[in-house]
Amino acid sequence: MAQNEKIPYKIYLSEEEIPRQWYNVRADMKNKPAPLINPGTHEPMSAADLAPVFCDELVAQELDNDTAYIDIPQEIRDFYKMYRPSPLVRAYCLEEKLDTPAKIYYKFEGNNTSGSHKLNSAIAQAYYAKKQGLKGVTTETGAGQWGTALSMACAYLGLDCKVYMVKCSYEQKPFRREVMRTYGAQVTPSPSDTTQVGRKILAENPDTTGSLGCAISEAVEVAVGTEGYRYVLGSVLNQVLLHQSVIGLETKAALDKYGIVPDMIIGCAGGGSNLGGLVSPFMGEKLRGERDYRIIAVEPASCPSFTRGKFVYDFCDTGMVTPLAKMYTLGSGFIPSANHAGGLRYHGMSPILSQLYHDGLMEAVSVEQTAVFEAAEMFARVEGILPAPESSHAIRVAIDEALKCKQTGEEKTIVFGLTGTGYFDLVAYEKYNNGEMDDHIPTDEELAVGFAGIPRFEGNEI
Ligand SMILES: *Cc1c(COP(=O)(O)O)cnc(C)c1O
Repeated sequence: MAQNEKIPYKIYLSEEEIPRQWYNVRADMKNKPAPLINPGTHEPMSAADLAPVFCDELVAQELDNDTAYIDIPQEIRDFYKMYRPSPLVRAYCLEEKLDTPAKIYYKFEGNNTSGSHKLNSAIAQAYYAKKQGLKGVTTETGAGQWGTALSMACAYLGLDCKVYMVKCSYEQKPFRREVMRTYGAQVTPSPSDTTQVGRKILAENPDTTGSLGCAISEAVEVAVGTEGYRYVLGSVLNQVLLHQSVIGLETKAALDKYGIVPDMIIGCAGGGSNLGGLVSPFMGEKLRGERDYRIIAVEPASCPSFTRGKFVYDFCDTGMVTPLAKMYTLGSGFIPSANHAGGLRYHGMSPILSQLYHDGLMEAVSVEQTAVFEAAEMFARVEGILPAPESSHAIRVAIDEALKCKQTGEEKTIVFGLTGTGYFDLVAYEKYNNGEMDDHIPTDEELAVGFAGIPRFEGNEI
């Protein structure tokens, strides 16, 4: 491989260089993300309104649009030391394979048992719940990475963990379910008959394979109705993007060591947490007018919240039990086709990223899943890591951008987020290898069904 002697294959930071503070990009945003509002009154949710659902410290972080840097408690930093800092890898082998003048780097977050970046926020959320003296937490999980990460964090801190797992994943991914149970979590397929909202969804649609939106409704209902429990969410929320800023801060520190300035930063976007975390420090520079970068969100063509969604207030869940968030959304009733990137099958998008996208500060593209798996396979063969289908969306676009550089001869520097590994996604790889994978793209009529469920009120026209 044509390795440049100056830049190693992997840029590692030392343990000391694990960030001591998270960076809150909202502090530098001129147009702040819209607040969560009460679906009945349309008034912004106050800390007191949110307190029955989330633990207090996380509510404070959720509502804090002004503090740029928030200290990472020592206990959380100690946990981070078990699997961080994560490497920033120069994809020399991929560059050679593509025969591109582009320089490609990826930040690899798959070096822990949960197999994804989600542990960064799971430990923070579990920590604050424990500190508040709570007994346990409830959550939903789609593909299973978030549930796994949360079970690991809860096991470490001695908290109960109840996970509502989207039914199709529960059935398709028994191994993830068992990892969660190994870490002591109680896992229920959603929709289930253990909650009112689950029973209602099942009565209306008995054959449903579930969705993240349904599972959220169930987990929130159980949290609010059980003494000593709160609900935690693995993406979308402002607090989650805050915790995930460790990804971007480490990436920036590693690049700075070698004086590397990226031209573009690419990440897959489900609810937006890894992308938001990766790009936060770079977006901060952009917002403060210090530097410019292209920032690109990649989403599946089967669940195109950014590229085909509406920027309006909508429910975060199917059962309509959550507050309303202003975000790019396909409608909380939208159930995407059985795309294999389970972690990207969410109808909405982080309000922070939605605002930044709306303000033209970032771009978004959607890609079809066979093209994603083609990229995944090429990447696995040359770089060695078996990527998660979600992460492979970012790989696809990084490759496409590197191929454009080949056409133009430009030596662009591309950084992308490799959010996790795909060991539990081999059914998807099997489908791809057998040539049985299809690319379902929803028609405008199919999307209209989801849009029809968006709440209408003055100022929320679609
Ligand atoms: C959950 C997940 C994602 C998508 O979630 P975001 O909140 O958009 O980051 C991406 N990659 C992996 C591996 C995941 O587990």
